[in-house]
Amino acid sequence: MKLSLPTPDTDFSRDVLGRYICNTFDEMLVTIDPNARAASGLPARGDLRPFDFIVIGGGTFGSTLAEDLWFRATSRTERILVLEGGPFFLPEHVQNLPGLGIKNPDARKDHLPQSEVWGLAWNSNDPIGFPGLAYCLGGRSVFWGGWSPRLLDSETPTSAWPPSVLNDLNPTRLPDGSKGYFRQSSDQIGVTATNDFIFGDLHHAMRSQLFDGLTAGGITDAIALASLPDHPAAVYSDTPFTLAELAALLGVDLPNPLPSGVQLTQLEEKLRNLAKLEAPLAVQGQPGHAGFFPFNKFSAVPLLTKATREAVTESAGDDVKKRVMVVPRCHVIRLNTISDAGGQRVYELVTERGNISVSPDTKVILALAGRAGPATWWSLAAVRSRRGWRRSNGSRCRRSCPAERGRMEPESAAPTGRRCLRSSVRRTTSRRSTRTCTATGTGRRRYGLTHASSNA
Ligand SMILES: Cc1cc2nc3c(=O)[nH]c(=O)nc-3n(C[C@H](O)[C@H](O)[C@H](O)COP(=O)(O)OP(=O)(O)OC[C@H]3O[C@@H](n4cnc5c(N)ncnc54)[C@H](O)[C@@H]3O)c2cc1C
Repeated sequence: MKLSLPTPDTDFSRDVLGRYICNTFDEMLVTIDPNARAASGLPARGDLRPFDFIVIGGGTFGSTLAEDLWFRATSRTERILVLEGGPFFLPEHVQNLPGLGIKNPDARKDHLPQSEVWGLAWNSNDPIGFPGLAYCLGGRSVFWGGWSPRLLDSETPTSAWPPSVLNDLNPTRLPDGSKGYFRQSSDQIGVTATNDFIFGDLHHAMRSQLFDGLTAGGITDAIALASLPDHPAAVYSDTPFTLAELAALLGVDLPNPLPSGVQLTQLEEKLRNLAKLEAPLAVQGQPGHAGFFPFNKFSAVPLLTKATREAVTESAGDDVKKRVMVVPRCHVIRLNTISDAGGQRVYELVTERGNISVSPDTKVILALAGRAGPATWWSLAAVRSRRGWRRSNGSRCRRSCPAERGRMEPESAAPTGRRCLRSSVRRTTSRRSTRTCTATGTGRRRYGLTHASSNA
């Protein structure tokens, strides 16, 4: 059994990050299974507890969800397990590690591994193939472009999106005074701030060229700038965004003296439209809060790092008390289910490292990857629940389902297999407490990605 492994050395490095963030399968198992403890010669303990949440897939959504569950856990007792098929790979986005030279994967069909951790999980029906998945902690967030446009109203029709969801996502302020969820995630990943490394004369020149081309009608099928929402910094400003703030956002000087009347209105309109061309990138140049270094291009790994290290501190190094565990290189092969009094539930996970019994109260969350799309939006915006997963009456309903946050309904009323958000989370559930969620993504057309559609 692999227990209490010291930090491994390779010919090149000491695997401090891997060891400090992750646990082996055996280290995890002996915190829940008395038989595994006995088999490994560890003393019996009366305080072994199952995990409350098991997140399968420690990629973009899975890592961020695990971190969110950790920080939102109001009773400070919940245990969270992340099972990731790949290894710990990079501590943050590949572009934050200058000149590393690990390139983005090519679209292919041959299933051969590439770029250290990429592999094809399924067959693509696209003639040019598909880059596949980044099998590592952080998943594709370690490679992604960071392009995070807010969904347009036309993309979130009320015919398909529950008004309560839109009312949580879209407003600048929620009724309780906190920020709307799109705004929160924009702040957290850096979308509302100017990109610190895409700024300056060359950038201004290119933006002007694009603006001139667009306004002259040179780009067919372009959405009219006037019909697009303002730059997130202007949209989410608590006070009317001034001309001076617009100029600062764009890094341009205002004419001195300022024009007046119609010309002033035209100037403001032009600056607003120019700002709409700024890429809403998940790049953070300023610290989120005191004592925090900015993480620059967003990836999910720093979030998971923080959660796991805090869990170590809280448990004082006692794994049985550790509430966040991440087991890498643990491909989940099958979910075994049974039907019992409460309906169908997962009772066992079959993994490449062995089987894990699943308690009836455990929530199993599938975060194994969807298609290209705003998973980061969802992972940051959607799961920020005002009430967590605890009902206001105090009973447990640990749904991490974004569509339901803050307005839990009686479990008996929850329909099965309902698609609860148009793309982000699909509940394939029973009517009892053990629920299974799958995270997927959409919005591919807005990112110009090379991702092919798949027939998965
Ligand atoms: C080069 C590139 C650029 C992109 N740019 C953008 C962009 O600008 N804007 C945007 O919104 N989106 C972009 N995307 C898409 C975006 O990165 C993805 O939609 C998003 O990261 C998907 O998140 P996810 O959590 O669903 O999946 P992933 O991040 O892929 O995570 C899935 C995880 O599940 C693990 N896993 C899979 N199977 C198993 C198993 N059986 N057992 C255990 N673990 C398993 C994988 O190892 C992986 O870690 C880009 C993607 C790429 C590749």
